[in-house]
Amino acid sequence: MAEYLASIFGTEKDKVNCSFYFKIGACRHGDRCSRLHNKPTFSQTILIQNIYRNPQNSAQTANASRCKSRFSIMLACGSADGLHCAVSDVEMQEHYDEFFEEVFTEMEEKYGEVEEMNVCDNLGDHLVGNVYVKFRREEDAEKAVLDLNNRWFNGQPIHAELSPVTDFREACCRQYEMGECTRGGFCNFMHLKPISRELRRELYGRRRKRHRSRSRSRERRSRSRDRSRGGRERERRRSRDRERSGRF
Ligand SMILES: [Zn+2]
Ligand SMILES: [Zn+2]
Repeated sequence: MAEYLASIFGTEKDKVNCSFYFKIGACRHGDRCSRLHNKPTFSQTILIQNIYRNPQNSAQTANASRCKSRFSIMLACGSADGLHCAVSDVEMQEHYDEFFEEVFTEMEEKYGEVEEMNVCDNLGDHLVGNVYVKFRREEDAEKAVLDLNNRWFNGQPIHAELSPVTDFREACCRQYEMGECTRGGFCNFMHLKPISRELRRELYGRRRKRHRSRSRSRERRSRSRDRSRGGRERERRRSRDRERSGRF
């Protein structure tokens, strides 16, 4: 019996423990869930709830009407319905990459080495804008949670917690990865928002080098130099794009 219970723990067959909380670290029923959410006392992974705001999601509703009256913008972004025009895909990706890089770098500089970081593109309240950071060491995750809960981001208090998620492949929606999830943004499995290939190379590629490198401090110095250069370049690109779309 005990063996059977262990084998179904956290799966859909488990009537006691919530499989969604176990796999994804978030369940749409939240505290009212009829099954148990076993909060871990140790974990490499932390969840920072609802912290990324996709400018396209808010633009679709808030700016739709304002946007429609501005024909030039619609032309600039080639959006026939005018719904997506306030924030182009390029701008959205830059905005997202910048957010990702800022959080990733801060996690490493303040708390410790990050193995993997993921951001949900889902729209349901319990998943929207969720950021999962998997640290190499559990102590760093613990330190991060304690500190982050005393901090603010974009005028909002941060809510961070240790998360049971260890394997993101288990947490992700397979259909979404194949481009065929019919549940869309309200799917209850993770739809992860990809960062650009350049940023991926920059954040994860350089880190592999750092493992080999003896002098971490020298590496870090050159890293922040790189970063400010990258930031300036992006800023230039952004203002160029702005001029082109005539938004300001
Ligand atoms: Zn649940
Ligand atoms: Zn899905």
